[in-house]
Amino acid sequence: MGRVQDKVVLITGGGSGIGAASAKLLAKEGAQVIITGRTQEKLDNVKADNDQIHTIQQDVTKAEDWDRVITEIKEKYGHLDGLVNNAGITGPEEGSIEDLTDETFYQIIDTNIYSVYKGMQVAIPLMREAGKGSIVNISSTSGLVGTPDAAAYGASKFAVRGLTQSAALELVDDHIRVNSVHPGVVETEIRLFEEVVETTPMKRVGKAEEIAYLVLYLISDESTFSTGAAFTADGGYTAK
Ligand code: NDP
Repeated sequence: MGRVQDKVVLITGGGSGIGAASAKLLAKEGAQVIITGRTQEKLDNVKADNDQIHTIQQDVTKAEDWDRVITEIKEKYGHLDGLVNNAGITGPEEGSIEDLTDETFYQIIDTNIYSVYKGMQVAIPLMREAGKGSIVNISSTSGLVGTPDAAAYGASKFAVRGLTQSAALELVDDHIRVNSVHPGVVETEIRLFEEVVETTPMKRVGKAEEIAYLVLYLISDESTFSTGAAFTADGGYTAK
């Protein structure tokens, strides 16, 4: 028996980085994992020949895509045990607030905040029907402390924390748990700030797998007393 045996789990942005590592780990621990993203080729590479990983193309900024994904899951599996709102972007060109463009600002807000709100909104009825569920929203250390030259990204990740706390309180009687995960700098496609490594007490970046283990714990029934909580995995960055 795996730690998440037979659970049906949806992971957005599962085609790379933290999402891909989480998908592989949860599948190894017995879950049926649905990964989504805009690029089918990336999703196919993660799936490879793993018959516990399933792919659906989705843009998380589009309501119609969310409706299609949730309908497909309902028809195919009949229930949803876990949702990992992981898809997200940084604005590498973001710069200072004075340099930030409206286009970048709204792109970050749409991808990092709207997706989390919409994902929870469509998943909740399915989880409520089953009388339980676990939602994991991937925020960042930038959702706990300030990050200069990344104001829009930071604001979006603080918003993910706020959405998590509100949802956790709304859903406590439905036995749907909602927690946020706050990684420090992790080696993935998203390039953050080199200088953050210097200011990380462990003096290194994290591995995607080190975040995936946290996701696994929160989706599993090992974490049933945790809701509304913020879990960090950041090499000590926010301990200073
Ligand atoms: P990656 O860029 O490797 O993965 C992000 C994934 O999200 C991609 O596979 C991308 O696929 C998908 N994605 C982006 N936009 C959309 C969209 N509109 N619709 C659907 N999918 C989308 O990044 P990480 O694994 O590093 O990041 C995952 C999460 O972790 C993000 O929320 C990020 O903010 C957070 N995080 C990352 C840190 C790091 O250092 N890497 C640190 C702290 C937090 P595609 O382009 O094909 O759609």
